[in-house]
Amino acid sequence: MSNHLENEFELSNDEMHLYSRQILLDGWDIEAQEKLKLANVLIIGAGGIGCTSAELLARAGVGKITIVDADTIEMSNLQRQIAFTLNDLGRYKAEILAKHLQTINPHIQVNYQNIRFDPTNADDLVQHQDVVLDGCDNFSTRYLVNSICRKYQIPLISASAIGFEGQLFMVDAETACYECLFPKENHANEGLRCAESGVLATTPVIIASLQAHHTLLFLGRGLTPLKQKLLLWNGLNLSQRILQFEKDANCPVCQAT
Ligand SMILES: [Zn+2]
Repeated sequence: MSNHLENEFELSNDEMHLYSRQILLDGWDIEAQEKLKLANVLIIGAGGIGCTSAELLARAGVGKITIVDADTIEMSNLQRQIAFTLNDLGRYKAEILAKHLQTINPHIQVNYQNIRFDPTNADDLVQHQDVVLDGCDNFSTRYLVNSICRKYQIPLISASAIGFEGQLFMVDAETACYECLFPKENHANEGLRCAESGVLATTPVIIASLQAHHTLLFLGRGLTPLKQKLLLWNGLNLSQRILQFEKDANCPVCQAT
């Protein structure tokens, strides 16, 4: 599904009004706002991460957002998945999130697919995006997202949250990749999936806010503060560390010829 998108690349009067507090910013002019309007962003996962990052990008004026998630809304999601209410139980997350975004900002185009991101649809979903945001809840999807983004040289901004801790990084065609950072053999028998572990209500919202923030910097200004860097956020002492990581000379994804 999609919605009416203003034909012009230029911002309408209504859009200028909606985004006025951004356009007033030093270092964020109409040109940066127009870049957001022209941007295509794929959000993988409409859970605790995706709900927050998608909403912030929609409010900020990212012009085309596509959401992919096969799951339906359960009672235990409402604690942290801020787009959903009791009325939405049993309905598809991607669809409800997309409709929520459209009520917030009718000037953007929001697409959704109630499917799992898998090898049969990954190429079509990724290849025309300007950036991909991963907020899914399992390692196999994360490895697939990484390899497809690398295949089409699409930047990837990836966020995760478990317990009281969050992680965020950015990779692109030039950098090391997700599999350099987290080699697959280390997670082959991973018992602890995000989908099954405990998480405080605030943790995914905080790390997803940082993911959305980085995405706006990248799309509007071309800034990449976390390119090939891993941000680790500790929700118990509120400390944050940023670590550079390196290419793995044996990485089957980014070192493949
Ligand atoms: Zn790699």
